[in-house]
Amino acid sequence: MENVVVIGTGCAGLTAALYTARANLSPLVLAGAMPGGLLTTTSIVENFPGFPEGVDGTELMMRMQKQAEKFGARIAYDAVEKVDLSRQPFRLVAGDKTIETRTVIVATGAGHRHLGLESERLLEKKGVTYCATCDGALPMFRNKPLVVVGGGDSALEEANYLTRFGSRVFVVHRRDALRASKIMQERAFKNPKIEFVWNSVVADVLDVKQDRVTGVVLKDVKTGQTRRLDCAGVFVAIGHAPNTQLFVNQLEMDPDGYIICKKGTLTSVTGVFAAGDCVDRNYRQAITAAGSGCAAAIDCERYLASLGA
Ligand code: NAP
Repeated sequence: MENVVVIGTGCAGLTAALYTARANLSPLVLAGAMPGGLLTTTSIVENFPGFPEGVDGTELMMRMQKQAEKFGARIAYDAVEKVDLSRQPFRLVAGDKTIETRTVIVATGAGHRHLGLESERLLEKKGVTYCATCDGALPMFRNKPLVVVGGGDSALEEANYLTRFGSRVFVVHRRDALRASKIMQERAFKNPKIEFVWNSVVADVLDVKQDRVTGVVLKDVKTGQTRRLDCAGVFVAIGHAPNTQLFVNQLEMDPDGYIICKKGTLTSVTGVFAAGDCVDRNYRQAITAAGSGCAAAIDCERYLASLGA
């Protein structure tokens, strides 16, 4: 029987692992489908305190993992397929293992949101991607026009990064004002290779028949007019949705699937705590995720202490 199982190894999960490990709870940490979480898909993280020169996202996560392991966290590269939180001990199924545990810290983070087009789905990995850092340097995008969809920090970060490879980067945004932070906006506006396409959405990705991206159909949301824009890649950066499907009908959630916590990190099930992007629709920063992972660990430790465990 485990004392604590942490599900997820993003900033929230690994910070929860570090704190529960230092509390001598020997947490089992299940890394899931994306070890290291979303930060491993970013390039340089410039706003994590303590790194004035910035730090590579993957390196930051590897350091967090090493720190948690140093104090006794056990990382398993398993993805949880099923949970039963209806009774104690809680049961988690991961691969061929069934794990019994007194407490669970849910830190499953968020995944990339999709445009929802059939052509987007059919051309995924054939020019449609959700991660410039992962795919931007591929030969198919070199010296070609590229499209980034979105108006937040992710979109502008991807656009800036892609100017290293593409001949031109078009940022397609559905409004005429960006959601991104001022510093990211200034950087993008100054970059001569970035062009903004305002008040527009991608109505279709071309060309399914050729089995590769050759362009997009853009729709002006004000006039309704459509036009074709040639490009070799479509980088979708329109935000994230919480990875909480595992907990449907088990934990209380809002209509968008974010887990509802009360009194800090307590979920609707006693003994189950939640932290990071699967809870937070407001801040969604590496440092706030880490902070809430710390809070979940402290709440969990106090709960176990109250049981005399
Ligand atoms: P976000 O801030 O939620 O922005 C999503 C963008 O996509 C918005 O501009 C939104 O338009 C647009 N959008 C949403 N659904 C759409 C759809 N169906 N079709 C077309 N456009 C759509 O998400 P994010 O940029 O991924 O950022 C998430 C969080 O991570 C933020 O808190 C951000 O600050 C943080 N972040 C920080 C950095 C950094 O500091 N370097 C880098 C990346 C991310 P509207 O604006 O019209 O809603």
